[in-house]
Amino acid sequence: MGIHWSVFFGILGLVIGSFLNVIIFRLPKEESIISPGSHCPVCNHFLRPWELIPILSYVFLRGRCSQCKVKISWRYPLLEGLTGILFFLVAYNNKSGSFGLFTIELIFIVLLLVLAGIDWYTFRLPDIFTIPLIIIAIGARFYFPEGPTGWESFGTAVVAGGIFWLINFIYPDGMGLGDVKLIMGIGAFLGAHKVFIAIFIASLSGSLVGLTLLSLKKATFSQPIPFGPYLVFGALISFFSGDLILDYYAKIFFS
Ligand SMILES: [Zn+2]
Repeated sequence: MGIHWSVFFGILGLVIGSFLNVIIFRLPKEESIISPGSHCPVCNHFLRPWELIPILSYVFLRGRCSQCKVKISWRYPLLEGLTGILFFLVAYNNKSGSFGLFTIELIFIVLLLVLAGIDWYTFRLPDIFTIPLIIIAIGARFYFPEGPTGWESFGTAVVAGGIFWLINFIYPDGMGLGDVKLIMGIGAFLGAHKVFIAIFIASLSGSLVGLTLLSLKKATFSQPIPFGPYLVFGALISFFSGDLILDYYAKIFFS
C-alpha cells in the first residue's frame, strides 16, 4: 500500500492499541470491556475525550492522572505505539493487494499482542484468543493463495504444537498448554520455515532476558517467566523479516 494508506492504518492501530490496553487490563479480572468507561484506578476520575487520545494524552498529561496526579503506567502508550507501528508496517508491506489477507494479518497482530499482554501480567494464555488464532490461521491459509498452503499450515500447527506439548509433558513448569496452543496458531500462520525462526528468536531472547535479570539479581531461578511474550516477539520478527533471514541463510549455506 502507498504511504498515505499506511499512515491511515498506523493511526487506526494507535486507536486499536488503546482498546487492547482495556482488554488486557480488564478481561483477566472478568470485568466488562464496554462499561464503565476508562477511569483512573486510584481516584475513579472518568477520562474525558481529550484524555483518551492515544500517546498524545499521555504526553500532554506528562504521564499522570489529571485529577489525582497518580502516575499512569508507561505500558499504555507503549502498546498504543507498538500497535500503530505494526499496523503501519503490515499496510506498507502489503503488496498482494488482497484486502482479505490484509485484514487477516491485522487480526493476527491484534491476537498476538493481546496474548502477549495477558501472559505478561497473569501468566495465562486464554483459549478465547489462542483457539481463534489457530482456526483463523489455518482457514486463511486454505482460503488465500498467498503464503503457505493450507496443508502446510495444518501440518506446521500439528508438528510445532506436538514438540511443545512434549516439552510440556516432560517439563510442565517450563511450558504451559497455553504456549502449545499459541505456537500452533503462530506455526499455522507463518508456515514451516518461519515458525523455526520464531521459536529460535523466542528462545534466544527469553534466555538473554532471563540471564540478564538473574545477573542483575532482579529474578531468581525459581521465579516463573512467561514464555508467551517472547514467542510473540519471535513471531513478529519472523513475520516481518523471515523472508530476509531465510534468504540470508540460503546464501551462506548453499552458495
Ligand atoms: Zn486519578
